Order: sequence, then structure tokens, then C-alpha cells
Amino acid sequence: MKLDHLSEVLNFIGGERIPAISGKTLSNPEPATGKLLGTLPASNADDVSRAVEAANEAKASWGELSPEVRGFHLENLARGIEENLEAFARAESIDNGKPIAVSKSLDIPRAAANLRFFAGAARFQHEEAFRTRLPGDDLLNVTVSRPVGIAGCISPWNLPLYLFTWKIAPALAAGCTVVGKPSEVTPVTADLLARVAIEVGFPPGVLNIVHGTGPETGSAIVEHPQIPAISFTGGTATGASIAQQAAPIFKKTLLELGGKNPTIIMEDAELDAAVEGAFRAAYSNQGQICLCGSRILVHESKMDEVTSRLQKRINEMVIGDPLEESTMMGSLVSESHLEKVESCLQTARDEGGEILVGGERLSPEGRCSSGYFLTPALIRGLPHSAETNQQEIFGPVATLTPFANEEEALHLANDVRYGLSASLWTSNVDRALRMSEKIEAGTVWVNTWMKRDLRTVFGGVKDSGLGREGGSESLRFFQEPTNICLRFNSSR
Ligand code: NDP
Repeated sequence: MKLDHLSEVLNFIGGERIPAISGKTLSNPEPATGKLLGTLPASNADDVSRAVEAANEAKASWGELSPEVRGFHLENLARGIEENLEAFARAESIDNGKPIAVSKSLDIPRAAANLRFFAGAARFQHEEAFRTRLPGDDLLNVTVSRPVGIAGCISPWNLPLYLFTWKIAPALAAGCTVVGKPSEVTPVTADLLARVAIEVGFPPGVLNIVHGTGPETGSAIVEHPQIPAISFTGGTATGASIAQQAAPIFKKTLLELGGKNPTIIMEDAELDAAVEGAFRAAYSNQGQICLCGSRILVHESKMDEVTSRLQKRINEMVIGDPLEESTMMGSLVSESHLEKVESCLQTARDEGGEILVGGERLSPEGRCSSGYFLTPALIRGLPHSAETNQQEIFGPVATLTPFANEEEALHLANDVRYGLSASLWTSNVDRALRMSEKIEAGTVWVNTWMKRDLRTVFGGVKDSGLGREGGSESLRFFQEPTNICLRFNSSR
């Protein structure tokens, strides 16, 4: 299969790649160069309705297939991605600006793993049954599940194919047909997935992909009366507006939102590993991961050492062309996002923060001289209440805050509106458990960061989201359970 043509992204509806009904397109720039990469359809409610029609037509036959047969089709998609790993990784790096080493080792393998995992997980789903004995009654309660119908799956730009497949795979495995929308900022790999779907004979209408802007295409998906469930990953403000649209029409929503995650380095932490962990957590993927540890909380006795070691690691970073294998940090995803991160840096300065290193635009030599590059910033001297410590920036910006004891570390960790994840560095196992249970977050990593087992739950508390993904939680979201209460006479 030839997947090197990235310039014309199309919708994928009823098994065909087609333009928007209006013929309108949006332009898609390449962030590392600032040049036009290509176009994508500017879809509107009519395109969404067309996708819903296709999904409706395919719904009954897909929902009636056994989990094994649906799994077979998902595995075909996974294999198609794996066989074209180089092309997918290159496309993801060009479209997003992330280093090719990251696309190759993380984004694309994980996209295939999502499809494979849910292909298998659906086979292991089982019904729940309770035998209920009451005076004069002998009952068997069996809870059976059926697919919810058409699933709306809306995903962000930071881990484009990784997060798109994290939603569509469980929806499809659970027996739903899908109308999906990737971010207009990074549409290319979802389009490559559509090409793979055609190539491997994925059943038409089961997976539909509609490209366009959030307010137009995304909103049309959220509002469509025949889409009963919306799985969304993105910003907290967008999540709030989706919740508002969905609530009066009693639509199921799963919301994975922003984070302002702490990395907590205790005085007993193994320092080499802790600094490396804090560094990776702060700046991986240009700091554009919801799980990034943008607040580095350090025991006061270790602050000087952690600060100087982090500065050294930042200075060693190779920043530049995402397509170079040696690149450790690529460009930010867009010019507007670069400007947003720069304005957050200005806020940090205005609040009295000291930018110890980084925070400057970079213009690499060669083809990337007009790209959206920013050197990773490390800031200290800000109060915990400062906006820089409270609001998600979603870029290569981290702050350092000292604490005196465990109690203060927990207070700082929890005193934000978000609660997605945390990483805690300590060599004391009792403390690890004690503190982990008190941290308000959906995921706490101890002495590591961003390790995932797809069977485990994933999600956020407070303003970081509503509901959980992962393993059977993902499958259950896309299903409706019915309890069948069967009275029988065991003496007959
Ligand atoms: P956005 O919320 O801007 O967008 C996410 C998706 O929603 C995009 O496809 C977007 O389309 C679409 N969208 C935007 N507005 C609407 C709307 N009114 N109705 C329906 N859909 C809409 O987030 P970003 O793409 O900027 O992603 C960054 C955010 O995502 C960060 O806050 C990050 O923390 C969060 N995130 C959370 C994760 C988690 O698991 N908790 C994981 C990864 C990221 P378009 O882009 O085309 O406008």
C-alpha cells in the first residue's frame, strides 16, 4: 500500500473516501515548517448526517456479529497499521511536529495495540448473574449488554492516532458503529487509517470519519439525535460545553479532559531516576500530553540538586526537525498554540516567576527555519496560587515548587482544579501507598511515569473528566445493560 500522499485528507463515509458535500476545505499547515501540507474537508451537519445514515445502515449487521468476528476485523486494521508503521509514523510527525522517534516507538505502535487489545478484550466480556432466593420466589438475575448504537468519538491533536483509536476500538469491539472526528489540526493519520480500512476490506459504514472544526463538525456530532453516546478527549472548556449540549438530551458522555499534574520528589527518592522521570514527564511530546507533569514539587532539601540536574538535561536536548531520528523535541503543534504558550510564559514573568532556562522561540537551520519551535522552559519562584501553577499550559513549560514535609506535598498536589494524574518519587513503600491514596487523581505513578496497562482504568477526577476508560470500562461505556429477572420453580 502506498501511503505517502498526505496532501488531500477526505472524509470516510460508507466505506468511501469523499469530500465534504459543500466542497469546502480547510488548510492543514505543517508545524515544523509553517508551510501548507494540504487540505481537509470542512464538513458540516450535512456530512455528519450522511455519516450517521451510513452508520445506521451498518448498525444491525455489525452489532449482531460475534465478538470474535468483530475482533478479526479490528485485528486486520491493527495489522494494516503495523505493516505501514514507517509511513504512519512519518505522517504523524509531519502533521503534528513530534519527533519521529516518538511516533515510531509510541504513537503508532500504541494505535495498533489499542485495536488489538479491544479485539481481544471483547471476547472476555461476560455476563453477570445473581441467584436470588426470597420466600416463595427463586430468581435468576442475568445482566445482558447490547451495543448503545452509533458512537460519537471526538479526539484531540496531541496524540492523534493513539487517542482516536483509543476511542473507536472499544466502540467497535462493543458492537457500535462509529462517527469519529479527529482534530482538524492533525487529520492525516486518521485518513491513512481510512485507506487501510478500504485496503483490508473493513465492512463499509461501520467506521465513519468526518473531518472539520470542533464548533461545526464536532458540535453536529454531539447534537445529532441518532448518536446516543459521545466519547470525548480534549480540553476542559470544550468538555464543559459538550456536557451542556448533551445533558438536556440525556446523551451518555465520557469526558477525558485537561490536567495540571504534579511530579512529587520526596527527600528519600532515588534522585537519578526521579530527575529523569520529572524531565520526561515535563517535556515529552513538547509538553503536549494531558499526563505531563508540569508542576515539579521537590522536598526543600533536594531542590538545588534537582534544579541544576534538570537544567543540565534541558540544555542537552536536541531540538529541531521532527523527521531527524536524533531529535528529542520537535515543534509545537501550531502557530496559535505557540502564541498561547508564549503568553503563558509572559504571565509567569508578570507573576514574578524566574525562567531559569528556555522559553524562547527557536529557528533551526534548514527546512524547519519557519517552524513553531520553543525551547523547554523551567520556572521557579512562583507562589502555588499563581495562574502559572493553576492553569493547564499544555506546552514545554514546568514550574519548581519546594515543600517541607509530606503534608505540604499533598496539599500542593491536590490544591488545583484538575485531578488527572500524579507521579510520586520515594523509596519508602509505606509512604508510597499512604500518599498515593490521598492524591486526588485518576492515576498515580510511583517511581515511574506514563506506564500503561490497557486493562487498567484511566480517567480524571475534578475538572479532569467524567467517567473512566480502559479495559472493561471502555467497553461498558459503549453498551447498555439490561437486567433480566427470571423467576423459576426449582422444585418442578
Ligand atoms: P480541544 O478541546 O480544543 O479539542 C478536542 C477535540 O474536540 C478536537 O477534535 C476538536 O476539534 C473538538 N472540538 C472543539 N470544540 C468542540 C465543540 N464545541 N464540540 C465538539 N467538539 C469540539 O482540545 P485540543 O485538541 O486542544 O487538545 C488539548 C486538550 O486535550 C488539553 O486540554 C489536554 O489536556 C486534553 N487531553 C486530555 C487527555 C485525557 O485523556 N484526559 C488526553 C489528551 C489531551 P478541532 O480541533 O478540529 O477544533
